[in-house]
Amino acid sequence: MCSATREGGGSAVEQLTAFGAICGSAESFERGRLANEHTPRLKAFDSKGRRIDIVEFHPAYHECMNISVAQGLHCSPSDYLARPGASPATGANVARSAGCYMASQMEAGHQCPITMTNAAIPTLLLQPEIAAGWLPKILSRSYDQSFQPVSAKRSASIGMGMTEKQGGTDVRANTTAAAPVNGGGPGGEYVVMGHKWFMSAPMCDAFLVLAQAPGGLSCLLLPRFLPDGSVNAIHFQRLKDKLGNRSNASSEVEFHGAHGWLVGEEGRGVPAIIEMVTGTRLDCAVASAGLMRLVLANAVHHCRYRTVFQRKLVDHTLMQQVLADLALDVEAATALAFRLCHSFDRADDPRAAAWRRLMTPVTKYWVCKMGPALAHEAMECLGGNGYVEEGFAARVYRELPLNAIWEGSGNVMALSLLLTLQREPEALEIVLDEMVATVGHDTHFKPQLELVQAALHEPRLLEQRGRRLVEGLAKLAAGAILRAHAPAFVADAFIATRLSGPARQTYGHGLDGADTRAICNRVLPA
Ligand SMILES: Cc1cc2nc3c(=O)[nH]c(=O)nc-3n(C[C@H](O)[C@H](O)[C@H](O)COP(=O)(O)OP(=O)(O)OC[C@H]3O[C@@H](n4cnc5c(N)ncnc54)[C@H](O)[C@@H]3O)c2cc1C
Repeated sequence: MCSATREGGGSAVEQLTAFGAICGSAESFERGRLANEHTPRLKAFDSKGRRIDIVEFHPAYHECMNISVAQGLHCSPSDYLARPGASPATGANVARSAGCYMASQMEAGHQCPITMTNAAIPTLLLQPEIAAGWLPKILSRSYDQSFQPVSAKRSASIGMGMTEKQGGTDVRANTTAAAPVNGGGPGGEYVVMGHKWFMSAPMCDAFLVLAQAPGGLSCLLLPRFLPDGSVNAIHFQRLKDKLGNRSNASSEVEFHGAHGWLVGEEGRGVPAIIEMVTGTRLDCAVASAGLMRLVLANAVHHCRYRTVFQRKLVDHTLMQQVLADLALDVEAATALAFRLCHSFDRADDPRAAAWRRLMTPVTKYWVCKMGPALAHEAMECLGGNGYVEEGFAARVYRELPLNAIWEGSGNVMALSLLLTLQREPEALEIVLDEMVATVGHDTHFKPQLELVQAALHEPRLLEQRGRRLVEGLAKLAAGAILRAHAPAFVADAFIATRLSGPARQTYGHGLDGADTRAICNRVLPA
């Protein structure tokens, strides 16, 4: 809770504490297990062979949705839109993210439609008359799983369809076509033909989809039902058989003359949907940090109670080194993710805006990349029990790589950073200024600071050094936040091992002299 309070979400602490009790209950974890064991099933046709295109979920999945929607995780930063003339509430993004951090630990898959619905709002607002029609249902706290026109429902959720077989990163290769009806134009109607190779949460009530209109790649809103109450021609082909994220359905879909309404201008599809993509990148980092926290807490708990060679595991030096080392990354990932949330809350502040533009790809890259390796090590702390499905380490381990792939994988995040550096070099100056103000005097930071600054003076080598640059910036930022706000035993150990010292590939070394017991005790109250 201290990251959320520090970054501006303090007024929500009481509410978040109550929500945490729900997410952390035995019942919630049991729901998470059930929702992942009883995976969604596609019902494409009825008994007469007519298309119905619905996906059935286990009731536990709907319960998770119910809990997250009641908390407003799918929309709360936009609540102010329901009150004409109102401004965004202070810390609303941080408060929401704190909820998502905990809800992901309860069950991660259902967070997909929650994330997409929240992130879709800025894109929908580009077309005010479309937003006006959908927002009252989106802002509702009453989850409604029924498959019927949104006008008859208590609430609505929104998904996204960008990726095609020939292009996920390179969406300009999309071939799905949108032909205008009655001239088209912003807010106008189009007929859409084509496919999407990944379209998750297919029981959403509408999807923001990229398609080629006469003016170029464009963003359209495709509802499941048309205004006359008939079902739109959005035909699910299959559900993906995925490594993890199994409670959530991810469909392959074809549009056979589906109807969509243009959001923004023709040819401006990428700038329109990038608003949504940016929000989902933030959530990937927050969810990964939450899942890392879950496996770490499990590992520490297990080691406190498991006796090996007449001593608790946590009291064995080697194990304490491993747990403390994991804890440093979890604290750093959480701090960095919430610092990013803060920048979403301060859209009008140029310094916060610079942080948001530069550090969204950096944070998404670093936190999400760290997750799988950290979950693996935490799983090992649990011994054989960590590898079986009755616990949740195995599920978390299968879930985490998704956050790194989805919405911009590693190289794409590095390229996104480089693009910002080229277009807005002043953003880096602002971010580095902030770091130098906190840690400029600390010699441990020097090598990474020099590395980042040197990379900028070699524009030819920027792409070759892309990943080094991202990782360097992430570690600098995380180190600076910990130095400013964490106890010295945490900040010192993080900085000594991540910003200087010999290179490392695994956890559990380099902490000679660190107060590993204090670091472990900080994870869970003793
Ligand atoms: C479970 C799941 C759910 C998903 N849900 C959705 C959804 O709801 N909607 C949706 O639209 N998509 C969805 N996706 C798709 C996902 O966003 C894409 O898979 C992702 O964007 C990568 O695109 P791609 O698969 O086409 O890979 P590619 O674009 O072929 O990329 C492959 C690799 O190449 C790298 N790469 C790409 N360009 C470069 C470059 N210029 N230089 C160096 N490296 C590069 C990438 O980083 C990546 O590692 C989902 C994916 C998964 C796994």
